[in-house]
Order: sequence, then C-alpha cells, then structure tokens
Amino acid sequence: MRTVIVGGGLVGLTTAASLGLIGHEVTVLEQAPAVRAAGAGIGLWPNALREFDRIGIGAAVRALGNGIDTWFHDAAGRPIRADGYDASDHRFLLVPRPALNIVLADAVGRDRIRLDAHVSGYTEDGPEVVVHLADGAELRADLLIGADGVHSRVRAQLAPGSEAAPHAGHYAWRALVPAGDERPGGTVLTVGRDRTRGGYARVSDGQTMWMVNQFEAGPLTGGKRDRALDRARNLAEAGWHDDLLRMIADTPEEAILENQIMFVPPLQRWTGERVALIGDAAHGLSPHISAGGTLGVEDAGVLRASLDAEPDTAKALLRYEAARIARFEEVREHSAAVELAADAAEFAQRYAAFSHWMLTTAPAV
Ligand SMILES: Cc1cc2nc3c(=O)[nH]c(=O)nc-3n(C[C@H](O)[C@H](O)[C@H](O)COP(=O)(O)OP(=O)(O)OC[C@H]3O[C@@H](n4cnc5c(N)ncnc54)[C@H](O)[C@@H]3O)c2cc1C
Repeated sequence: MRTVIVGGGLVGLTTAASLGLIGHEVTVLEQAPAVRAAGAGIGLWPNALREFDRIGIGAAVRALGNGIDTWFHDAAGRPIRADGYDASDHRFLLVPRPALNIVLADAVGRDRIRLDAHVSGYTEDGPEVVVHLADGAELRADLLIGADGVHSRVRAQLAPGSEAAPHAGHYAWRALVPAGDERPGGTVLTVGRDRTRGGYARVSDGQTMWMVNQFEAGPLTGGKRDRALDRARNLAEAGWHDDLLRMIADTPEEAILENQIMFVPPLQRWTGERVALIGDAAHGLSPHISAGGTLGVEDAGVLRASLDAEPDTAKALLRYEAARIARFEEVREHSAAVELAADAAEFAQRYAAFSHWMLTTAPAV
C-alpha cells in the first residue's frame, strides 16, 4: 500500500513508523526545510510509550527524557494530593521535542521524508488519491493521512467548515533553559490564582523547562518575557516560586515560546474512503491536560491495528474513526471539567481523574 502522510510532526512521524511495521510504503511530506519540532519539552504518558516500544524506539525515547511526577501545589506552595489516585496516575516522561522528532525521523528512514514539501490539497481519482504540492508536483497514493496539525489542509477538504478557532484568552508560555536554579527534585507544578498554572520540570540532566498557562490572560502588553512574568506571579505567593520568577527573568526573549491556544471543533468524520485525519489535525485541543500528543500517538496505534486487521481500507478507516471519535468525546468532557475547576484542589482532583481514565482505558493495540 502506498501511503502518503502530510506532516512530519510528532504524530505524522509516529504514524509513518507504525504503518511501516505493517508493510506500507510510506512517504512523509513536510513543509518545513528540516525535521524539527516547535516547542520545548513534551510529556509522554505510558500509552504513547507502548507504541514507541512497538516501533522499536522505546528505549531511545526513554533515554532522552526524565520521569516527572505531576502532583500539584497551590500558589502558596502547599502540596495538593488528589484523593483516590496514586503515583502511577501522575507520572509521565518529559522529553525534549526536537530530539524526539529526530529519533522518530531516523526510525521512519530519512529517505521516506520529503522536506520543503507543502501540500496544497488532494483529489480522488478512482482507487487513488492524488496529492498536490504547492510547487505543482503531484504524488499518487492508495491512502492519504492528514497529520498536518490544527490548521490542516487535509481537514479543510475532508470536513469543510472545521477551521480551528482560538480558545479565547488562553495562552501558554514556555522555554527550555539550563538546569540549576530549581528546588531539589527539579520539578514543581503549581495551580495558582486567576486560572493560571505552571512551574518547571527537569527535561534532562542539563535542561529544565519552565511553563506558564493562563485561561483568561486578559490583554497582552509588553514583550513575551514580561507577559509570562506577569502571569507567573499568580503562582508565586509569599516567595513560593521566586525561583520560577528568576528563571523567566533570565530567559532571553527569543528563547520564549508564546502560543494562543487553538481548538479544532468536534468532527462528524475523521475519514473518507482513502483519506484519514490523525493527531492535532483531527482533535487539536487545549494543552492543560498535557496529553494531546500522547493521544495522537495512540491514534497511530489504533490506525495501524485497524488497517492490519481489515483488508478493506475504507472499512478499516471507519473502524479507526469510530474508536477514536468515541474516545475523544470522553477526552473533551474530561478536558472541560479540568478547565472549569473552581480552585487548585478541584483542578488536581479532576486532572488525576483524567489521567487515570486515559491510562486505564487506553486501547490495547
Ligand atoms: C503549550 C503546549 C504544551 C503541550 N504539552 C503537551 C504534553 O505535555 N503532552 C502531550 O502529549 N501533548 C502536549 N501538547 C499537545 C501536543 O503538542 C500536540 O498534540 C502534538 O504536537 C500534535 O502533533 P501533530 O504531529 O499532530 O501536529 P504538529 O506537531 O502541529 O505537526 C504538524 C506538522 O505538519 C506540517 N504541516 C502543516 N501543514 C502542512 C502542509 N500543508 N504540507 C506539509 N506539511 C504541513 C507542519 O509543519 C508540522 O510539522 C502540548 C501543546 C501545547 C500547545
């Protein structure tokens, strides 16, 4: 089967490696000039690591990252424990994104990844899909996968009217910085005042990631560092997190990533007869549950298993779509519940409920 994957991000590359396992002849089309990943560190839960084990890179990915304990504190530094949940519901592997994508690209095979390849659309021609590139080139495939992120071209064609929308007022700031100024343990996560969450986490021996998110960030004034610092003060009552404030103040402006959070609306369909959406292209949602990428890697496992079990591609895609739409209805409910939590204690409780649910119901594929 000739399979073209649009997008060489986390999920596109994982899907390429996963479908390679079942004999697909895969081509990844990535618009960027290099395999790279915007972002600092990404938390990968065990359900994602299982798919990485399958494609043979589990050990390499674990060696890149650091196990993080995601229990929270309130803004005054009091630890919050969610009743009824234990450490396994709170542990993920934090991995530097650029290094992760390099491991993935090597697993796919560099000769299977075409860079500077911007996809402008596709047409269906009998049993084939013709993929159109912005430079006028065309590629014929038996299966087209849109792993092209929240602003997906493939989704625009498959599900017209499904443009991603800004999650009003919701912003995230983060940066990778040299480790050194943190408390022992290297990871502190805080749910603060005014719907702000953040802290820092040790990504690897020498690197720490700080992050600040706010749901209703209000008007943004000043540079990125000042904007992040203004919000980080909501996490730093009475000296708790002076270390975070120092870390942000010392970060060069150009090293700070700032995102307006975008939402992909719930879709009626993720697939056509020979086209499928995967990852953020299908379900981009808020990062406050730290699991969008993990769930995209899960998508890849379910797609692989569906195509492996069902020889009729259209039926296999429907099987994949049914399983993933049902799973994401629940993800969206959990995500909204965490977002609407009244205070730090409720946030921590609902976050634990989400991670416990995600881990205990993850598909065994
Ligand atoms: C602040 C923040 C923190 C997060 N933290 C976590 C976390 O801790 N854990 C977690 O699991 N998830 C996390 N997420 C979510 C996670 O980052 C995303 O779900 C994940 O990166 C999606 O991967 P993707 O490959 O689907 O899309 P993307 O990473 O967006 O990749 C899409 C790729 O497609 C390419 N592309 C787009 N259009 C075209 C085109 N027309 N032609 C060719 N190529 C194209 C792009 O260049 C890009 O390389 C976080 C998100 C944010 C914003």
